[in-house]
Amino acid sequence: MSFDLLKTDSATRARLGRLHLPNGTVQTPVFMPVGTQGTVKTMTPHELRDIGVEMMVCNTYHLYLRPGHETVRQAGGLSRFIGWHRPILTDSGGYQVYSLAPLRAISEEGVRFQSHIDGSRHFFTPELVVQIQQALDSDVVMCLDVCPPYPVSQEDAAKAVDLTQVWAERCKAAWTGIQESRNPGIEGHSNPRILESSSPVLFAIIQGATYPELRQRSAEQLVALDLPGYAIGGLCLGEPSATTYEMVETCTELMPANKPRYLMGAGYPEDIIAAVNRGVDMFDCVLPTRNGRTGTAFTSLGRVTIRNARHSQDNTPLDPNCTCYACRDFTRAYLRHLFIASEVLGPHLLTLHNIHFFITLMSSIRRSLEQGSFREWSQQFLSSYQQTKEES
Ligand SMILES: [Zn+2]
Repeated sequence: MSFDLLKTDSATRARLGRLHLPNGTVQTPVFMPVGTQGTVKTMTPHELRDIGVEMMVCNTYHLYLRPGHETVRQAGGLSRFIGWHRPILTDSGGYQVYSLAPLRAISEEGVRFQSHIDGSRHFFTPELVVQIQQALDSDVVMCLDVCPPYPVSQEDAAKAVDLTQVWAERCKAAWTGIQESRNPGIEGHSNPRILESSSPVLFAIIQGATYPELRQRSAEQLVALDLPGYAIGGLCLGEPSATTYEMVETCTELMPANKPRYLMGAGYPEDIIAAVNRGVDMFDCVLPTRNGRTGTAFTSLGRVTIRNARHSQDNTPLDPNCTCYACRDFTRAYLRHLFIASEVLGPHLLTLHNIHFFITLMSSIRRSLEQGSFREWSQQFLSSYQQTKEES
């Protein structure tokens, strides 16, 4: 992997960059849709490519439980298994263990949990989580972290920071071992740049909940490990937006400028813009897909609940400013009808539109950064986006 920092905005801390990964190059700031089970729900990889998705996130926890990482390894890795030939980031599985699995117990050694599918018992260690992601053959591998819920006491948040640090060190050691056994000639390679961009990489996750001093400690300790990239975890869990932004800023101030920065789980356009403003490069969230399936669309004029009776005779597009297939060929009245009649095309079209909306949002952000007008663009975008926000 290599990361080119192309430009830092003069009026904000926003950055324009390019991330070179084994399965391709990604323009940053980037939004990555989430393919929890190895599929971005309702969407084919072909459709994702068509609307400009450059990179997606898959969930280690889910793929480990079903179909199992050895099945994926035998199929030739996740890219081949799921038919997606662009970069993939896999999360560590930690967040899903903490949020989905019953009877989980965290110890110094790892986290013991029961499957939410069949109750079977499992034990994730930092080493195993790295091995699973290596079997999946993802472009960006995440360290196992401890992600406390919100709110959490300062004492428990501090314990999470300490364990996250120890686990990141163990992940780095396991990852280095795997890379060395894969590329025995790594040190003597004649063109390190080629080797770098063709190698998958390990990112660590900064924790610290909503305590600035813990965020600082976590960021400083993890940066000292000199990993190729860093994520900010444990935010967007229900804390006030102002707190999220303050924590993001605390972290990005300490994160290396020459490495990619990833804010995990931020999905509202206003949060993405605020984080780009503070120097974040990568985003993922289930919001566009989950909301698409339940009938909520993100549009340039705010959020739209398509089941609302006011759309029953509305023969205008979902978003008059959108060029996606759902907006070009269909009306609000028809989309509403699909949802009311429980037709699967409804969730598909709204998901397609929502992902298109986020991809377009990111390309508009990047264009404004190129032109040096990010601040003006974001003010204008937010004022029209918030016009009809009350509908949701
Ligand atoms: Zn659309």
